[in-house]
Amino acid sequence: MVIHKATRRIHDKNGGIEQLKEWLAASQSTVGFTGAGVSTESGVPDFRTPNSPWMKNKPLPFDVFMNSAEARQESWRRKFVMDDLYSGARPGVCHMAMAEMVNCGPMSAIITQNIDGLHQMSGVSDDKVVELHGNGTYATCLACGLRHELADIRPTFEATGKAPVCVECGGIVKSAIISFGQAMPEEAMLLAQDLTLECDLFLAIGSSLVVFPAAGFPMLAKEQGARLVIVNREATDLDDWADLVIRGEVGEIFGSFLSDAKIPA
Ligand code: NAD
Repeated sequence: MVIHKATRRIHDKNGGIEQLKEWLAASQSTVGFTGAGVSTESGVPDFRTPNSPWMKNKPLPFDVFMNSAEARQESWRRKFVMDDLYSGARPGVCHMAMAEMVNCGPMSAIITQNIDGLHQMSGVSDDKVVELHGNGTYATCLACGLRHELADIRPTFEATGKAPVCVECGGIVKSAIISFGQAMPEEAMLLAQDLTLECDLFLAIGSSLVVFPAAGFPMLAKEQGARLVIVNREATDLDDWADLVIRGEVGEIFGSFLSDAKIPA
């Protein structure tokens, strides 16, 4: 099937918000899709903003992490440096507005590339958040899958400098994020695919839409006939395919959704 580029509409911000409200009100099933841009106002830096602290503390690729004990130590050191930078992060206006759309509106679920757990903290239940890149608020054993809490790992790591191993089986313990080069989580990918195929409105917010395979979902939504709306402060590679592009800060844009009680139950 050939997908034609949409007659792209970049509205002025207010016009875009009004259009989105209209489409939300008419939607039977909306999917929210988020990237790091929904969390920057909460104090969690994204990758692409100049001088991002992630560049000094880049997550190591999966093969590097697996290849040596030294790399694992360095990976845990960087993780705790970054955790300290945003440990007090709380959901922002955009998270809260999206939670309202899930709990009282047409949003069936949120597919997120984020690893910060802020959608759940905003009141969205675990089963309505599909985490494509895992979750950085805990760790798992790569051998037996046992969950490990960061609060248990950190004191030992700081005292010994050694990367944690599983308390049950001695396997390698890794933050529960999906690293570059690591297999995508099968269940989350299938769920995200089903949600995308069933929606009539796909709302991509705060993502540069360059990280694949995650960035394939907006195009899949478009292919199956859903409306595609992109909200971001800068242009994305998929803007030409969107039915509506709203440029601006997510807090400012979604503030008007929070105060608006018209989102249908
Ligand atoms: P990205 O960093 O590539 O893109 C974020 C986009 O959001 C950028 O285009 C930026 O201009 C925009 N943006 C930032 N703040 C904004 C704001 N207040 N309002 C509107 N737009 C804003 O992030 P990505 O697309 O999610 O992909 C990168 C990868 O980084 C993902 O795989 C994700 O797992 C990981 N990541 C996650 C977090 C997090 O969990 N919060 C943080 C950094 C990176």
